[in-house]
Amino acid sequence: MPVEFMVFPAQSRLLPYVALLCLTFALTLGGILARPIESLSLFWPVNAVLVGVLLRYPRQANALGFMLVWLAMVLADLLCGSAWKPALWFNLCNLGMVFTVWQLLSRVPRLHRRMRSPHGVLSVFAACAAGAMVAASLASVMAAPWFEQSLQATWLAWFSEQFSTGVLVLPVLLSAPSVRAMVRSGAQAVRLPPLLVLLGSLAFSIAFGGPGAIAFPIAALLWCAWTYPPFLVSMLTLTAGSTLIVAVAQNLMHFSVPQSEPGVTTLMSARLGIAMLVLGPLVVACVSQANRSLMARLAHQATIDHLTGVLTRSAFTRRANALLDSRQQHAQALPLTLMMLDIDHFKAINDAHGHAIGDQVLRQFARTLQDQLHEGELFARMGGEEFVVILPGLAPDRAKFTAERLRRAVQDLHVVHADHRLQITVSIGLDGCAADTPAPSLDELLARADQALYSAKAHGRNRVEQAEAQRQVV
Ligand code: GH3
Ligand code: MG
Ligand code: MG
Repeated sequence: MPVEFMVFPAQSRLLPYVALLCLTFALTLGGILARPIESLSLFWPVNAVLVGVLLRYPRQANALGFMLVWLAMVLADLLCGSAWKPALWFNLCNLGMVFTVWQLLSRVPRLHRRMRSPHGVLSVFAACAAGAMVAASLASVMAAPWFEQSLQATWLAWFSEQFSTGVLVLPVLLSAPSVRAMVRSGAQAVRLPPLLVLLGSLAFSIAFGGPGAIAFPIAALLWCAWTYPPFLVSMLTLTAGSTLIVAVAQNLMHFSVPQSEPGVTTLMSARLGIAMLVLGPLVVACVSQANRSLMARLAHQATIDHLTGVLTRSAFTRRANALLDSRQQHAQALPLTLMMLDIDHFKAINDAHGHAIGDQVLRQFARTLQDQLHEGELFARMGGEEFVVILPGLAPDRAKFTAERLRRAVQDLHVVHADHRLQITVSIGLDGCAADTPAPSLDELLARADQALYSAKAHGRNRVEQAEAQRQVV
């Protein structure tokens, strides 16, 4: 997405820019106040948060938006007592990080960028590495006069902080569900064991100490990753990662890198290690989420007929068998009726008006019947223009009236196509069992209802017929 060099926004669009200015100002002020005096902050989440906001609300990601971000950072810095020159240069380095990561990630397809795939996680890591390199290079060249360290030490300090904070913070903003999605899904129960094990292993890492201990929570993080959605997992990697960084910074884990290393401190090494540690759980979270969505889609496709929205034949078979089994287990069995429905002369509609109109007729036919049926009654498409209904609790003698009602509803249905009003009719065959009689198997019910349907067709169509054997029972 190219940057628009818009000079001044339209009047109605001013508010989001003011919000961006205030947000940057508040975040920078918070960041400065939270950092130890005269040193680089332990975390500088401002840049990563701004990248996330600009990617989620891309309308403000233009020349004016970036200028305002810089201005707000400089103002907050000046307010906290910085001289204007370092305030300008330091925040130009921050802007370098924000702009680079935003530029790179705005080229990644939205689906990947929202952490829906491992590709997205790797892109965030690569973009944060590139952004951190830009910020570190700018800092060591332009801001060198204000640092007492060597250029190399400045570069490493900036790079390790910007990269690790970026990969911990940015996934949270990118994977966060929209407010509308959160309202739609409502409060969801969270399985506690993986979370509790993660908290336990974090405490154990800190208590055990040593460089290897930063990897202790990886098993718990992986368990969280395949249990929770990516948003929750990214919040947990942020929490675990920042806890470990603080523990290392406070020397709670009792390890240090030999100071002979050129400019490499324990904290830098730990930051980079922790940043790489969260890569695995984030990738696993995305893969399991993609897997869950795929399974849900497959289950939906196996259950719901894509054209008419009613049950598929296989879902119907499963549910009907379960219904017959549960009926069998009750001492006082309820009556039950099964109907086979077949649209009359449907081939002629396809031939005269085309397959698309045939599909429209099938959809409207299914909707009409669905409106007539009640909850607990099974309605499925067996294939083509053949449908089946099971009415639990209704014996065939009474179900005949329901079948008549369905037949009339279809007869009254008018499918409007171009200047034509198409009228259709349906033939219905039914079979079932009275109360307290053993139910036949589903196959037997289907075969007898089909026989009755055949008879309805043979007797002129647009009519309801009851199976021969059933007539004797009723
Ligand atoms: P009858 O009154 O004897 O039932 O005659 P019919 O024409 O309805 O029955 P036939 O079995 O000869 O034709 C059924 C037609 O349904 C043939 C097939 O092309 C059409 N068909 C099957 N599935 C679909 C579908 O998904 N969409 C459309 N538009 N047509 C379908
Ligand atoms: Mg037919
Ligand atoms: Mg047919």
